[in-house]
Order: sequence, then structure tokens, then C-alpha cells
Amino acid sequence: MNEYDSNRIYDLASTIGYVKTNKKEEADCFVLNTCHIREKATEKVYHEIGRVKKSFRNLKKPLVIISGCVAQAESEEMLKRESYIDIVVGPQSYHKIADLILNHEKKKKKIVETEFDVIKKFDELQNINNKQNTISANLTIQEGCDKFCNFCVVPYTRGPEYSRPFKQIIDEANILVNNGAKEINLLGQNVNAYNFLDNDKNYKLSSLIKELNSIKNLKRIRFMTSHPNDMSEDLINCYKDYEKLMPSLHLPIQSGSDKILKLMNRKHDKKYYLSVIEKLKNINENIKISSDFIIGYPGENEKDFEDTVDLIQKVGFVNSYSFIYSPRPGTPASAKSVNDSLKNKIRLKKLQSILEDFQLLDNKKHIEKYCEVMIENKCENETKYFGRTKFMTPVKFESDSSVSGELIEVKITSCNQNSLFGYYKENKDKAA
Ligand code: SF4
Repeated sequence: MNEYDSNRIYDLASTIGYVKTNKKEEADCFVLNTCHIREKATEKVYHEIGRVKKSFRNLKKPLVIISGCVAQAESEEMLKRESYIDIVVGPQSYHKIADLILNHEKKKKKIVETEFDVIKKFDELQNINNKQNTISANLTIQEGCDKFCNFCVVPYTRGPEYSRPFKQIIDEANILVNNGAKEINLLGQNVNAYNFLDNDKNYKLSSLIKELNSIKNLKRIRFMTSHPNDMSEDLINCYKDYEKLMPSLHLPIQSGSDKILKLMNRKHDKKYYLSVIEKLKNINENIKISSDFIIGYPGENEKDFEDTVDLIQKVGFVNSYSFIYSPRPGTPASAKSVNDSLKNKIRLKKLQSILEDFQLLDNKKHIEKYCEVMIENKCENETKYFGRTKFMTPVKFESDSSVSGELIEVKITSCNQNSLFGYYKENKDKAA
């Protein structure tokens, strides 16, 4: 989502003459687009500013802008702590960034802009073409969250759930496809809570998938991140009805223990989660599920951890993320005492090794087989190409076709836990 925002911030800044540079010392302006989900996010921002300061010690000071969720959470505090910062702008008001820059240039005054203005933001962004021209393009359809999991800052930094107008999204999708996108990733903190009311018509995520499926030059559709409670029947049926929707789903559960799920305020239990997976598998038995896991959440004991292991073994997740719990300031969980850190590390290691085994096992199944891959780009300084399978697995391969965006059948010859490796030979290999 921050990648999407960063691109849009660039689109906005380019309306007043800014262009990207790869040479840091040449920059007149730095925008640090920050994420508050990461551990010690605030400190990382100050370290990064320190690096910019060092690079510009003997040069003219650049304009320094902090955007994103750290900016929202820390607000004025940032200007007090670091005088090198000029503008602080929150994730729901970055559409004003061009005006903020011009104002600062004129008045030389520090600015803090953290208003929650999400409707206006997307209305204004609609007037500026999305210039992303990647094969796989991100498209934010929804922001914010009303779920209030006890460990999470999103409801405080991004605000309540907001769904963009249906037509606005379809228009942007068409722009992306005309710019060359072959895959669209629909994004939202709670993407499957998408719900837009237009007069008496109710548009859901399934309505968007249906519409995108009919865009001629678009080949693949994905969405993330989903909440289990919003996996409605109409959405599950999309995996049967729309061939462009890829058969992989990121469905975070965080823990396999009902006790911990309750303490986290996740509002669902393990049984319900497994029932959603069952419905999905009944629709498409090949669908692959990835998830997020928090280890060592306050109150987690050995039995709770083993429940998580048990869930992983039942589902056989791929491409999943796991972290040791760390408190986020201002969240209800941050008031609880944290678990023993050594125990957490041991549990994380065990859990990651199980996840890695599943991943490797899954990748090995492809060896000596053909696999549909979408070519995304040529690997830097290499003769190989990069693409992804339907299931998002990265593939590196030799190829005599270099058309980005093409769907090709790559012969997989080897793999590691993260990626597949192989080759593609037009005609010859297909004939074989
Ligand atoms: S559903 Fe996701 S975004 Fe919302 S509070 Fe929970 S973890 Fe955060």
C-alpha cells in the first residue's frame, strides 16, 4: 500500500516539476514515506534522516518531507525532535503535497498536515493520471479498518474503513492497463471489506473482480489483505467464476489458539477460519493460502503455540510471514507485559522451519513440470528473466522470449525454498 502511495506522491510532485533521481546528492527534496507497522518504525525514520543529513553536510539542504503512518502518529512531535524536517504529512492528506511544497517554498515555514480527508484524497488523485507502468500494478480500493485488533495501529493511523467509488476504481484500472499493466493487485488494509453504496446499488469486492475480469488486456487479478470475517460467499465464488482471479489468497490468522485470538480481539476462532479454507478448497482444490503469524503475543503459552503449529500443519500454508510480537505505542496490547524473549525466539524458529518445509515441499512439486509464468522483467545484470506463477512464487528463468507481460510455460528444473528456476524455449520446448 505504501508503494502505491509513494507512486501517487511522485505523480503529484511531478505536477510541480519534480522528477526522480537515482543520485541521492542531486535531490532537492526527499520524501520518506513511512510505515508504522514495522518495529521501531519511528526510530528508523530518524536514522534515515541522519543519513540524509550526513550526505548533505557540505551541500544545500534539501526539502525533507515525512509522509505515511509514522507522520500521522507522531505529527508535531517530529518537528520538535528533528529540525531538519520541513513537512509532516499523514496518509490521508498526501494529495495536498504539491501545495504544501509550494507553500513551504514561499513562506519557509514548517508544516504539519494530518487531517483525515480520505474522500477528498481519492477525488483529487483521480484528476492526476496514475503513471505506474509496471506489468504488475497496485491499485488501492479501500483504506482504514474498523476491526481494532488489540495489537494493531492501523485503525488509529489510517482511520475508519473507507471504500473508493466503484467507477473511480474501474477508471484507474483502465488507465493502468493502458499503461501496460497485465496484472492488478487490489489493495486495502481490509480489502475484502470493500463496500460502496451508489444510490440503491451495493458494490463489493466481488463486483470489482467481475468488472476487472472483463478488461480485455488484463490477464491476472489479485487482492490483499483480507480479513477472515469478510470472506463472503460471493467473494469465495469468484474463484470459480472469474478465470483471471489467481488461485492464491493471503488470509492472516495471527494465531491458531482460540484463547490468543480472543485476547487479540480478532473476532473469529480457529474453527471458523478452517471453515473458510474448506469452502475455498471446495471451490478450487488447488487454491493456496498464505498467512501472517504473531509469536509470543502477551498470554501465549506452550499450548497456544502448539495450537498454531497444529493449524499450520492442517492448512499447509505457503508464502507466509511470521514475527515475534512487539508492542505498538497506543494499542491496547501495548499495556500488557511481554513474554520471555528467549522462549519467543525458540518458538519463532520452530514455526518458521515448519513453514519453510511446507514452502520447499510445494516448490519441489513443480520440478520437471511446466508452470505458467508471467514475465515481469529482466533481472538486473543477468541474462535471466523474472516472473511469478499463479501462486505468486518468484521464478527466475532463461528465455528466448523477452516480452514483459507475456504468459509463458516455463520448464522448472530446480528450486529453493523461496523461488523456482527453469527455462523457456519458444517452439522447441513446447514441441518436446
Ligand atoms: S484487521 Fe488488520 S488492519 Fe484491522 S486492526 Fe486487525 S490487523 Fe489491523
